[in-house]
Formats: sequence, structure tokens, C-alpha cells
Amino acid sequence: MERRILFRLARKPAFAVLISFGLTWISAAAEDAVCGLAPSSPPNFIEPLPDAKPWSKAADRAASQERPLVLMYHDVVERSSELSTSADTTVQALRDQLSYLVNVLGYESLPIERLDAHLNGPHPRPSLPPKTLFVTFDDSYASSYRVAAPVLRDLRVHATFFINSWLIGKVSHPKKGAPKPFMSWDEARALDADPLFDVQVHGRAHPRLTTLSGQALEGEILGAKCEIESALGGPRPFLAYPYGAFNSEVKARAKKHYRLAFSVFNPAQAPDSRFNIERFPIRSRKLRDGRFEAPSRASFARQIQAWNQKRFQWTIW
Ligand SMILES: [Zn+2]
Repeated sequence: MERRILFRLARKPAFAVLISFGLTWISAAAEDAVCGLAPSSPPNFIEPLPDAKPWSKAADRAASQERPLVLMYHDVVERSSELSTSADTTVQALRDQLSYLVNVLGYESLPIERLDAHLNGPHPRPSLPPKTLFVTFDDSYASSYRVAAPVLRDLRVHATFFINSWLIGKVSHPKKGAPKPFMSWDEARALDADPLFDVQVHGRAHPRLTTLSGQALEGEILGAKCEIESALGGPRPFLAYPYGAFNSEVKARAKKHYRLAFSVFNPAQAPDSRFNIERFPIRSRKLRDGRFEAPSRASFARQIQAWNQKRFQWTIW
């Protein structure tokens, strides 16, 4: 009797879809085996259904034309005097910028899975709202958890934290200014447990991937993914290239193990694929006396305008 029901179900398309999900799960388990991990739970991100059309150059171009705003932050400091590199920003500037985008310009903050569903999901791919905001933080700084996360929660803004598996629990010693602590695994887990946030991969030790090959490169791309998946549980399908730097080999390896990869705005490279998603770099300005200053509200507004009109440059003040 049960066998007959199963046989009837097997002829239904829905059952075929279930079988295909089963196969997808098996392929996820195979990836775990690459990592040397025990097979874990099925992936929690959207898998393309069997009828999903392959990615095309035309779709790639359309996606890049829509150009959702993907912000890239690094260390977030409490006071202007603590800014020690142009990649740092102040907590006040972070709050001002996000509040301006969401409350004044009407951007909608979405989790990065929505970009994945839009670019990789089944046809018809879910579209994004016209003004979509994705917020990312690189480099695993403890300030992501301690300083930025409370602001993000307050503004109800989603964020993705790209971390380096070999930097967790360590301290960075910049040329200028005080040492910068990286987050602990407990802090990474706490961020990941918040429904507003997710934690993804920025490699192991943050070398420029274009300087590596062979096992060293595979370690940064796949090894880091495995270590972060092992520490946090669950799949980590998104990668941010350190320094935004990639070449054809880096991109090919990223394609093998990830669903999306993020770079940094680069006028010399066409943002032409899911493995070169350009981000808007939030940068502080270096003053003549060597100190740094977060962008003013007016300057930030001009930069956003330039980004939307596709005439953004690295330094517009
Ligand atoms: Zn980085």
C-alpha cells in the first residue's frame, strides 16, 4: 500500500522537486567532506530549482545595471581621534549615514540572502526594491560586535560580517594609533545568531589573493570557509575578496565553493558578475596633519549621488 502511494507520488512533479532537493543536500554533504567535516544539516539558503535557467551575460548586465547599494565598512571607532586609517569610520558617521539612507532617501535594508535569491534563485528570480541597501563589515574587528551592532539593531539595518578565520581572537597592530582587537568566536557566534545579521568569509589571514596560487590560495578560499562553518555551524556561501583583489584563478575557485563574491568598487573592472559584486567603500579623509576625518553629511550625500549616477570615484569631497 505504502509502496503504491510512493510510486504514485514519484510520478508527480512536486516529488521530483523533493528528490532534487535531496540530491542538492547530498552535494552539500559532499562539500562538507571536502572540508573534512561530518555531514551537517541541509543548507538554509535558497537552492536553484531544476528549472532555473543558467546564468547569462545578459542577466549579469541587467543585475549590474540595477546596482543595489552595497556598503563596505571596516573598523568602527567611538571618537574621531581614534581614526587611524582611511578605512576606519566613527560610530557617529555610521549612524548618520545609515539613518540618512533609510530615513531620508528611503533605502530598504535587506539581508544578503535577498541578493543571492535575486541573482541565483529560481526563475522568475525575485526582484529587489528600487532602492536596496546591503551593509557589510570586513576584517573581523571586535568593534563590529561591540560598536556597530548596537547601532544597526537600533536602526533595524541588516548587515553581513566578512571574517578571517585566523584573525579571530587576535589583535591588529596598525602603524599608527592603538592596537585593534579582532572579535572572538563567541562574538562571531552572537552576531550570527541575530536575525538581522550573518557572518560570512573573508579568508584566513587576509593576504591579497592575487599573490597566491595552489594550496595557499585554496586554503584562503576553501580552508577559511570550512573553518568558519565548523566554528559557527551552517553553510557560508558568500565571500569577500581581501582588498577586493581577484584574478581569473581566484574567481574560478570562488565560483567552485561560493554563490556570490564581493569586491570593492574599481573603475578599471566591469562589475559583470555574481563573483565581482562591487561595494561602495566608506572611507575617511586623511588630513594634512596625518589625522583622519569621517566624511561630512554633505560629502556622503554627494558620494551616494555620484554612485547612483555611475560617476563615483574613490575620493569625492
Ligand atoms: Zn579586508
